[in-house]
Amino acid sequence: MAQGEAKTLKYSPVIGLEIHVELNTKTKMFCRCLADYFAKKPNTHTCPVCLGLPGALPYINQEAINKCLLIGLALECQVSSESRFERKNYFYPDLPKGYQISQYRWPLCKNGKLKLSDGTIVNINRVHQEEDTGKLMHQGEDTVVDFNRSGVPLVEIVTEPDFTTSEAVREYAKSLQQLFRYLKVSNADMERGDMRLEANISLRPEGQTELPAYRVELKNINSFSFMVKAIEYEIKRQSEELEKGTKLTQQTRGWDDNKKVTYPQREKEEAHDYRYFPEPDLPEIMISMNQIDQIKSEMPELPLQAQKRLVEKLGITVSDAQILTENAEKLTYFEEAVELAIAEQVSPKQVANEILNRGVDIQKTSIIELVNSLVQRRSAVISDDETIRSWAKEAITENPQAVSDYKNGKTNAIMSLVGSVMRKSQGRADANIVKQLLEKLLYV
Ligand code: ADP
Ligand code: MG
Ligand code: ZN
Repeated sequence: MAQGEAKTLKYSPVIGLEIHVELNTKTKMFCRCLADYFAKKPNTHTCPVCLGLPGALPYINQEAINKCLLIGLALECQVSSESRFERKNYFYPDLPKGYQISQYRWPLCKNGKLKLSDGTIVNINRVHQEEDTGKLMHQGEDTVVDFNRSGVPLVEIVTEPDFTTSEAVREYAKSLQQLFRYLKVSNADMERGDMRLEANISLRPEGQTELPAYRVELKNINSFSFMVKAIEYEIKRQSEELEKGTKLTQQTRGWDDNKKVTYPQREKEEAHDYRYFPEPDLPEIMISMNQIDQIKSEMPELPLQAQKRLVEKLGITVSDAQILTENAEKLTYFEEAVELAIAEQVSPKQVANEILNRGVDIQKTSIIELVNSLVQRRSAVISDDETIRSWAKEAITENPQAVSDYKNGKTNAIMSLVGSVMRKSQGRADANIVKQLLEKLLYV
């Protein structure tokens, strides 16, 4: 929602976000099948555990737990020294066991937070570990199921209903994507479904502090911009309904991007419909202080820390630093280029400018090419008579006193003209060539 628009609304939005992210572990959450299922032949990464065959026993993937803890710690969560898996029971053909192993009452991490650029804090309710489902595919009249994705580790991050605008939701979701990539826990690619967003939205009369008794859950939305559009649409739709006096109820809706509308999918279940109960086949997860310290010590530099470093150590502006730290790949490229550039007397600022304002494609331009072109451009100016000549002509017009002094025999007066040209070239022109050119111009 555009700022300012809120004032004309009689209702203000309440939004909470659930983000699912698939971890890039080697194997699945509760078996040793390979987790990388993307574009693999259907049903080749399966075993009795992830097919939910009777009698098969799950076991916990420690790499997934560690990655879930990394996410939780980066979001300043409390890590539970003891947590548990629970069965979330529901029937769906891509869920062979008839339940999903998830966490409910005892999540791995809880009570975290993330700060947005305007300083507002988004409170994180929980960061928990669960498993992905299989995938249904429709082929003409038939529906077939691929279980390669069944049991792939999934982390769910749930916020408190702290958002009031779709823009803040977008910023939060993008920051999490960036975080997952810095932490190297997931590709977090929305198109491939590595990362999935669900927004819960309701409206309350302005000034009311209690949460509305209903919420609409926007599901299966696979891009940041669709999410923003769907939220905007819901704010409008719900406020029109409320104004008409309609009593809104708990509901799940999807986004139709052709029609630019949300549409009802189903009436939303309540938690008790899932009949959560502790997973009897898995032990409690115990996390020691030592383990937490170990994971903290392995925590890579996070985007905000990198930004701070660029600003303080390299003199980059805050807004440039934000763009340069958008992803870890861009940051590494920039830093490697700076190292080489400094050896060539090119400043970090010039490197930043080259990458940000000249649209250098970092996939296609090697660091050596980039720095070479900066060095060459600098020397091109020095040898370019025409450019220097035009600055020299300007200097002559702008400094009539120096010109007449020179013509009256004070040959030293030419130095102030040289200085003027040097300033115009930001110090890049060759002072000897400048002097010679000025002498030629003043001779006629
Ligand atoms: P479920 O799995 O049933 O969706 P969760 O507890 O995982 O339940 O997620 C609930 C989400 O809905 C949280 O992000 C929470 O902040 C948000 N939420 C709760 N109440 C409201 C409300 N009235 N309006 C908008 N969002 C809400
Ligand atoms: Mg939900
Ligand atoms: Zn398996």
